[in-house]
Amino acid sequence: MTAGSAITVVGAGPVGALMSLYLARRGFEVTVYERRPDMRRKEISAGRSINLALANRGIDALERVGLMDEVQRHLIPMRGRMIHHEGGDLDLLPYGNKPEEVIYSVSRAELNKTLMNAAEAEGATIRFGWRCESINLRAGTLTLVDEGDGGRRDVPCGVVIGADGGGSAVREAVVTATNGAQDEDILGHGYKELTIPPGTNGGFRMEENALHIWPRGGFMLIALPNPNGSFTATLFLSHEGKESFAALQTDTEVEAFFNRHFPDAAPLIADLTSSFFANPTGMLGTVRCFPWHHEGKAVVMGDAAHAIVPFHGQGMNAGFEDYVALDGCIARFGTDWNAVFAVFEEGRKPDADAIADMALENYIEMRDTVRDPKFLLKKELSWKLEERYPDRFIPRYSMVMFHLLPYAEAYRRGKLQAAILDELTESAGSLDEVDFDRAAILIEKMM
Ligand SMILES: Cc1cc2nc3c(=O)[nH]c(=O)nc-3n(C[C@H](O)[C@H](O)[C@H](O)COP(=O)(O)OP(=O)(O)OC[C@H]3O[C@@H](n4cnc5c(N)ncnc54)[C@H](O)[C@@H]3O)c2cc1C
Repeated sequence: MTAGSAITVVGAGPVGALMSLYLARRGFEVTVYERRPDMRRKEISAGRSINLALANRGIDALERVGLMDEVQRHLIPMRGRMIHHEGGDLDLLPYGNKPEEVIYSVSRAELNKTLMNAAEAEGATIRFGWRCESINLRAGTLTLVDEGDGGRRDVPCGVVIGADGGGSAVREAVVTATNGAQDEDILGHGYKELTIPPGTNGGFRMEENALHIWPRGGFMLIALPNPNGSFTATLFLSHEGKESFAALQTDTEVEAFFNRHFPDAAPLIADLTSSFFANPTGMLGTVRCFPWHHEGKAVVMGDAAHAIVPFHGQGMNAGFEDYVALDGCIARFGTDWNAVFAVFEEGRKPDADAIADMALENYIEMRDTVRDPKFLLKKELSWKLEERYPDRFIPRYSMVMFHLLPYAEAYRRGKLQAAILDELTESAGSLDEVDFDRAAILIEKMM
């Protein structure tokens, strides 16, 4: 390893900050360019989604860099989905079958700040307010724009790690240089964040240790807890159509929509109508590109390589897992960057594609399928099968959230398991009616 070699990281979001920390610790001279101001010094929005779900893959990465103890104090465990049915009934559907199988709500800003502090403490230099406009990979220079006065300058960049999110400038440069391909598949549904403030005593106004969901078929509202007793609620809704953002243009329309579909949540949301119109409507989409790197000069990771829709709560977790994969490649190939990036891409691309597909599928599950009694039976049955065959049958959700099995493998096994569950529940209305002898045969044959 050539300690002191220069690496430029573009973007100091969660993935860029984690990569900078890791690479600085390995002895590289790391400079990070981040277009936004420093969120530790200036009050700015942390960007999309105020809080996010952190699960095992992200936790594994944070443990490896020794930050989990510090991050721990910002976490709120969520044991399951609290379903708010149309009639007002509540059901807590546990995420896993074991007490430790929980996911955590974490503040995006606090997590990002913790990572930036740690990266700087390891010697990385973060330059805020500089946007990377373009990269000349042949000359090894970045063109930066000063977000304050619009001034431009070219700087030498060494090896470039593109962690600049869904609209990545580094991805653009890599795809152009390699004659590669990129595809941004924008979902027809967007999102809007609203706040449920703490109660008058500062406590939570709904169950604290759950991810709340109001599934309504074509759309849904969700809410994740924050350490100050509030919840961040997010409405996921079509941009166009009968029930859509386009159809909600007046205070009356917004109030009627919330009172009709979310009557228990509506009175809890702070300044519902004014917040609804003041807060932006976010876009959601899936980014796929190939290749991810160019001749050992630049590589993309995190959302820059594989932005996904948020319905599996895995985008950041997957980006953090990229670091674990990169670490393995650097351990094998040192600073032979061409080999490092090629093997990194070869290993991660199938996993990124798999979680992108599973995240899209999970939207249907969250907003719709959870209401189906067959879904609940399959969930119960999959836990029973996991108890009986722990090495061969693990529910897909658990494989993604609580295990470190590659996403592509979770996806492959999940499809076989879904076929087994379909067959076993076809004519069963409850667990008592399931043919467990047949289950044993199917699992022996297929898994
Ligand atoms: C509504 C919503 C909810 C989500 N919930 C979850 C969840 O529960 N769990 C989960 O794991 N994931 C979740 N995600 C996904 C998660 O937000 C992303 O996967 C994660 O932020 C990716 O991190 P990143 O560092 O790769 O990219 P980003 O977070 O996008 O960070 C990129 C950084 O690069 C900077 N930048 C961009 N362009 C340039 C440029 N040209 N020059 C310099 N700097 C630049 C940006 O300012 C930013 O700081 C959610 C996403 C959304 C939209």
